[in-house]
Amino acid sequence: MDEDQNFLFFLNFYADLPRQGPGEGRITTSVLGLLTDLPLHPVTIDMGCGSGVQTLELARAGCQVTAVDLYPVILDHLIERICNEDPMLLITRVCASMDTFRPAAPVDLIWSEGAVYIIGFEKGLSLWKEHVKVGGYVVVSELTWFTSHPPSRLKEFWEKEYPSMKTESVNQEIIGKCGYRWMGSVVLPDSAWDAFYAPQKEKITLLRDTGSLSKGEEEVLTTIEEEIRLFEEYRGMYGYVFYLMQRIS
Ligand code: SAH
Repeated sequence: MDEDQNFLFFLNFYADLPRQGPGEGRITTSVLGLLTDLPLHPVTIDMGCGSGVQTLELARAGCQVTAVDLYPVILDHLIERICNEDPMLLITRVCASMDTFRPAAPVDLIWSEGAVYIIGFEKGLSLWKEHVKVGGYVVVSELTWFTSHPPSRLKEFWEKEYPSMKTESVNQEIIGKCGYRWMGSVVLPDSAWDAFYAPQKEKITLLRDTGSLSKGEEEVLTTIEEEIRLFEEYRGMYGYVFYLMQRIS
């Protein structure tokens, strides 16, 4: 029961933030621009879309997007965003899990920012391969070590939070093993992390000011704060990397 409540608190903490993972609209657009031979209106799945900053960017760039997320409370924010920003965009929302969702036919592009880690990088790439056409593309952003020897405090934190985080070269090998051609990587700039964390810091202060947090909720906030602190202290030792890949067979 407590665990359920803590998870709900965790979910609601992120649900109404501008985004649920580090990223930046202009980076989405520029990474998409690297895929030069897509059709004019590529059939696209956005896995783990969240409240959809990148979903809207993809749609504005001409993609016909199916936006998949497991949690209705998060998809509601995507609906709000579409209604407010551009109701004419070609976006279909699907409440489903990214490991069981199947498109009716293979698509031109699967996109996923800050979300494949939920089922695991390798598992995600393996499962999604058959959902994309031969010659089609998969683009995911994945938390990645930039050093093979992180300081112990940092290592301990991420071993608990995301034990399967790898270096870029290991991820490139995984991409090959899963049947894709690695086409390149783009590192998300620190500015996107700062923009991701700033509203979280404000929200933590506001929530603490209510004085009504349970022990479990306070623990959730402490973990988020520790994540922010570590990022600020150890900038450059890890980050999000966009991996661009093409299904070759
Ligand atoms: N792409 C968004 C959100 C990233 S956070 C962004 O960059 O802002 C990860 C998202 O995955 C959250 O919105 C969460 O609700 C969703 N999620 C969690 N488990 C999932 C699952 N099994 N299948 C689909 N989505 C899931």
